[in-house]
Amino acid sequence: MHITMTLILQHADVLVTMDAQRREIADGALVANGPAVEWVGPTAELPEQYRRLVDEGRAEVVDMRGHVVMPGLVNTHHHMYQSLTRAVPAAQDAELFGWLTNLYMLWSHLTPEMIRVSTQTAMAELMLSGCTTTSDHLYLYPNGSRLDDSIDAARQIGMRFHAARGSMSVGRSQGGLPPDVVVETEAAILRDSQRLVEQYHDASRHAMLRVVLAPCSPFSVSRDLMRESAKMARHYGVSLHTHLAENDNDIAYSREKFGMTPAQYAEDLGWVGHDVWHAHCVKLDEEGVALFARTGTGVAHCPCSNMRLASGIAPIRRMRDAGVPVGLGVGGSASNDGAHMLGEARQAMLLQRVGYGPAAMSAREALEIATLGGAKVLNRDDIGALAPGMSADIVAFDMSGVGYAGAGHDPVAALVFCTPGNVSMSVINGRVVIRDGHLLTADLPNVLSDHRRLARTLFERAQAAGA
Ligand SMILES: [Zn+2]
Repeated sequence: MHITMTLILQHADVLVTMDAQRREIADGALVANGPAVEWVGPTAELPEQYRRLVDEGRAEVVDMRGHVVMPGLVNTHHHMYQSLTRAVPAAQDAELFGWLTNLYMLWSHLTPEMIRVSTQTAMAELMLSGCTTTSDHLYLYPNGSRLDDSIDAARQIGMRFHAARGSMSVGRSQGGLPPDVVVETEAAILRDSQRLVEQYHDASRHAMLRVVLAPCSPFSVSRDLMRESAKMARHYGVSLHTHLAENDNDIAYSREKFGMTPAQYAEDLGWVGHDVWHAHCVKLDEEGVALFARTGTGVAHCPCSNMRLASGIAPIRRMRDAGVPVGLGVGGSASNDGAHMLGEARQAMLLQRVGYGPAAMSAREALEIATLGGAKVLNRDDIGALAPGMSADIVAFDMSGVGYAGAGHDPVAALVFCTPGNVSMSVINGRVVIRDGHLLTADLPNVLSDHRRLARTLFERAQAAGA
């Protein structure tokens, strides 16, 4: 579904390209045609052929005065169904394992409708916050739920999507953390993974949908499933994703069960390479950082979740210096109850400073991690920057509101330093999905009303079942 009319954005106060020279163009303009960017430069230098289109009314022209225009942000880690279980009292003040234990039983009552509506809700929130590409890690499938439910939601709302087929196979009776009721057999997981890749994965440039294989974590699946998933991923050329080295208990589990650090375990399983990314890595040791750098293994940094669960401060400064690809993730909505991508970039900058000093991360580096960093982690070279041939994923922030008042000295840095605002415009794959701050691709009040009803139903069912 491509808009065939050429889209021309002009007179942006600043156009942030994230191109090879990291150009920031004053009074910038951009031309998009179909799914791709065709031209970027100063408005005064807009080529004659495009001026003619404007004069003849054959292009959609948007005046971006007062705005910063930049590449859409890329979210590399999420569990969207958790939007239904934000701020659950029993899970507000726990660390990871205690938090999970309190939530697993509740999640066992999810339905396909809940997956669909919570995914739409989470995507709407992300899109309004400047995100244009997201991954989602769905790892439990109760009551007939399927990854297809998330995929349907993404298609409806028009977001670029890396759908991660998560899974859990080692229940409590076998020494794992999750209750047996939410785990699947490994044969069923692999069968469904293959079906999803064959049915949906699109390897082409500007693909709107890719499938990822994503066993949930070392403490909820077997070595076998990790190895078999890696084998299948390499056969089909799809990426791999899981949680790794999230906190001290996670490290202790790895040492006790496998006799290895999480990084050694990942290497042993074939879970390193440019087609692999791990969420969190708060406790990745020096050897792990070197391994990830050497192999191009990516990290989804989720600062809010790490703070919320008191997991620690991920060594992002050291990872970046060593050459590890780092992207940003808002993390699941139950461990980061606000999923604002620009806000996450801000927290990434602030948290590195808490850990490693005021020069540990600049605002521009935070924006780079949120765009180019995420693209690299998802193993894509067609998103994360605005340059000819790149996907037309573009967001615009209106700098005239009170939140940015007085920050005109450096509007680009202001995006990260000031209170994060929502976008006024968003374009995904050449299609305008947000205009004047309004989402065009979903009836948001209705989606939210369904979401409220389903969140209530989920709790009532869990209560009735005695969870
Ligand atoms: Zn997670």
